[in-house]
Amino acid sequence: MSKLIVANWKANPKTFTEALKLVKASDFENVVIAPPYIYLQTLSWVLKKAALGAQDTFWENAGPYTGEVTPSQIKNLKVKYVIIGHSERRGFGETDEMINKKIKAALKVGLRVILCVGEDWNTRRKGIAAAKQFVGNQLKKDLLETKNLKIKNKNLLIAYEPVWAIGTGKADSAKTSAEMISYIKKILDSRYPSSRAKLATGHSQILKTKVLYGGSVTPKNAKAFLSQPEIDGALVGGASLNQKEFRKIINAQQ
Ligand code: PEP
Repeated sequence: MSKLIVANWKANPKTFTEALKLVKASDFENVVIAPPYIYLQTLSWVLKKAALGAQDTFWENAGPYTGEVTPSQIKNLKVKYVIIGHSERRGFGETDEMINKKIKAALKVGLRVILCVGEDWNTRRKGIAAAKQFVGNQLKKDLLETKNLKIKNKNLLIAYEPVWAIGTGKADSAKTSAEMISYIKKILDSRYPSSRAKLATGHSQILKTKVLYGGSVTPKNAKAFLSQPEIDGALVGGASLNQKEFRKIINAQQ
């Protein structure tokens, strides 16, 4: 199964010309590009293979909400994915309650949600058990009352992003992040029993929610993460802004 590589451009690049150059170099199957909102419309006309994602959304679909961009506006631009709950947004004061409202609104209009969860260093230095408890709590709060939305497995993705690993050059180890991702999958399995697809052989295959790793993924460490069976892909920040580096990360799974 091909793994998914998500490029989170954050508030980059500075000009549309640079965005165009970058997107053309990143246009591959199983890639999601999440540029700033302002570039989404035009980039949707250019991309042929990669999918587009927004970096955030609001929880209402229209109304007097200055500065917000709504799930239905994003969906109408033919954007497939939306990142919700990124630690940088949580750092601006976004709470689990706000994240939960955004997730529900995005799922209702049919967007695929990439929910970011992950512990800070204060928690992680106490050990992996403390980190699991932290992440488990985030999932519980962020996914509150989503069971009745009948979520299709492909519409909910999780990115495990230890906060201390984002943009620091200090990635988690592939082994520990795989352990955390198995734990996340166990929680999701008990919440949303996996749907089964019949294969041509007559056997059934369990379709699980994809869980990605994010946090200082580079061409050097990408293979280690992507070769872990539990890890379904990577969310890449800094390295997605460099054409050559991003291409190497995409190729790391082959
Ligand atoms: C991110 O922003 O989600 C991220 C993982 O960034 P970086 O790859 O730069 O650590």
